[in-house]
Amino acid sequence: MRLTVRVVVPTPAHSTLSEPLSYASELPLAPGTLVRVPLGRREVCGVVWDEAAEGEADLAPDQLKSVIAPLAQLPPLSEAWRQLVTFAANYYQRSLGEVAVAALPPQLRELDAAQLARRLKRAGPPGEGPAAPKGPPLTAEQAQALAAIDAEPGPFLLFGATGSGKTEVYLRAVQALLQREPQAQALVLVPEINLTPQLQARFVERFGEASVVAIHSGMTNPQRLRSWLAAHLGQARIVLGTRMAVFASLPALRLVAVDEEHDPSYKQQEGARYSARDLAIYRARLEGAKVVLGSATPSLESWSACERGRYRRLDMPARVGAGALPRVRVVNMNHQPRNTLFSEPLLAAVRERIARGEQSLIFLNRRGYSPVLACGACDWRSECPNCSAFRVFHKIDRTLRCHHCGYTERVPRACPACGNVDIAPLGRGTEQLEEQLAQLLADAQGPGGRPARIARMDADSTKAKGALEQQLAQVHAGEVDVLVGTQMVTKGHDFRRITLVAAVNPDSALYSSDFRAPERLFALLMQAAGRAGRDAAQAAASEMWVQTWNPEHALFMALRKHDFPAFAEQQLKERQAAAMPPFAFQAVLRAEGRTQEVAQQFLQAAADAAPGLDGSSHVFVYAPVPMTVQRVANVERAQLLVESTSRPALQAFLAAWQPVLQEQRIRGLIRWAVDVDPLVI
Ligand code: ADP
Ligand code: ZN
Ligand code: ZN
Repeated sequence: MRLTVRVVVPTPAHSTLSEPLSYASELPLAPGTLVRVPLGRREVCGVVWDEAAEGEADLAPDQLKSVIAPLAQLPPLSEAWRQLVTFAANYYQRSLGEVAVAALPPQLRELDAAQLARRLKRAGPPGEGPAAPKGPPLTAEQAQALAAIDAEPGPFLLFGATGSGKTEVYLRAVQALLQREPQAQALVLVPEINLTPQLQARFVERFGEASVVAIHSGMTNPQRLRSWLAAHLGQARIVLGTRMAVFASLPALRLVAVDEEHDPSYKQQEGARYSARDLAIYRARLEGAKVVLGSATPSLESWSACERGRYRRLDMPARVGAGALPRVRVVNMNHQPRNTLFSEPLLAAVRERIARGEQSLIFLNRRGYSPVLACGACDWRSECPNCSAFRVFHKIDRTLRCHHCGYTERVPRACPACGNVDIAPLGRGTEQLEEQLAQLLADAQGPGGRPARIARMDADSTKAKGALEQQLAQVHAGEVDVLVGTQMVTKGHDFRRITLVAAVNPDSALYSSDFRAPERLFALLMQAAGRAGRDAAQAAASEMWVQTWNPEHALFMALRKHDFPAFAEQQLKERQAAAMPPFAFQAVLRAEGRTQEVAQQFLQAAADAAPGLDGSSHVFVYAPVPMTVQRVANVERAQLLVESTSRPALQAFLAAWQPVLQEQRIRGLIRWAVDVDPLVI
């Protein structure tokens, strides 16, 4: 007898959003079984979603194509996993096939049954449980947090200062879990690939090599498959990874930790634009697992969830040991000579550090030498011919580079418009910072009279494979006195010798049209401050410097006192008054076209179709507008914001809108996508 099974296969993003395809099978196949099936002229890997109910399939089983072969040696993916994928696809408005297939390791999709059998044989019998774990005696705050995690359902927001021992709390929570339930599994998410090796080392040290696997996009396909199988087969106790790991198959998941939960990297910025943090919350509830979000500067979404009693906040304000948070020094740039890049007091403080053999970290969120090159005689600027943006001047190789499309040219000898040879950089980037510091500190001497060593770390300096690791190693080894860089240098690293951190020009975030800019700046500055004074012996000398034209701004007032709650309260008041997230829910429809008119025409048609759709009476649809950087690589971009105070209404509306959007046929439209809970609008 032939049965009909419904199989989720790789499908384009917007085709029939949630429908699995029907196939015939000789054998009953459990939902979650991986199968190879024909699709058009190809053979693809799919996941059995369910068995078609009697009379449900369009075609009788004998008219359907057949499943080619199940990967029967592999246990099926769990019901909870399928539910997570279904939820993510629906919530973020993508096809089930796209989300399901992207959630599986690429190599798994290519294996046939024989290859898989060989893999599994190599994977061996499960290893022994974790070695008897040890760790330092807990601080009182850590012990309290752990007691709450043990006793209460959560979700928890571990609000702990940088260096307060949050990671130790995750380690102990996992330890307590495995003592109770040796076969249980835990998932630990981190925002950045570069943070995984450090964290992995700590987990391996505690639980042994065999218990811990990593999942992130920096791994080779065979490595990823190996980790995935170890998790899926229940051999790995702990999975560490970046946002993609939220979809790992973990049949015995009991605990989820999301470190630095405020970090924007948890939001996927292409394809299915999911938030791994939000999916972690959903998944934990679904599977009855506990979930701990950790941060020194929580997202205002999570913070307000605590205020409303939805999450339980656990506070750890003190640094472990005698480590103190650095003193914050705010330099009023209105009192400095015009065009000052480094104020005198800041420079003096850096010199002191160099003389004592301590390190300084100075950051500016702009790479390159200067963001624009301009002619002094006419109005020529280094515009990109393909984008509505300026090309950045890189002095190191004398190029103009577009940071949007990559278009690169040698710097012209003279102004291309008028021939004037006097073309000059406008504004500053990290290259210029490094150059000027080298001049200003030319006579500075470290212990023993050696000259000061300055290094730069940004996306340019770390492009080559292994360069980042090498530069970090140099900093850790004390071979650098002053490290200049973009925000890349501020995240997570456990630097031990830094006693001064400085933000030389953070003000632009105060004037940004992006309502989340102050939140991000505050988090960045607090994280940066967290790099200093991690060593108790040096804590007293540690300082965070901020150069600003707005020293009275509430943000800097709160920063002075390391007072995140005060900052959050002020921001949430503003957001509430303006009915902004987290008091409202948003989605953005973006369109790209050959012309701006085409992109906007699509959006306008979408807006015109909105009235009368499900949920639309509770949803506000704004007018289409060009995106901030309107043209990238000769593609015109526009967007339209939809907003509601009700998440269910917004979700109902988006679901009803989707088929309307798919029906639009507009000449010259290149693509479109919906971004639910966008981080940047
Ligand atoms: P966070 O994740 O909050 O930045 P970590 O967990 O990395 O903090 O802890 C900061 C430092 O303090 C680490 O070097 C860690 O090994 C150490 N540490 C954490 N908890 C304790 C403790 N209870 N006793 C001694 N040292 C600790
Ligand atoms: Zn000119
Ligand atoms: Zn460009």
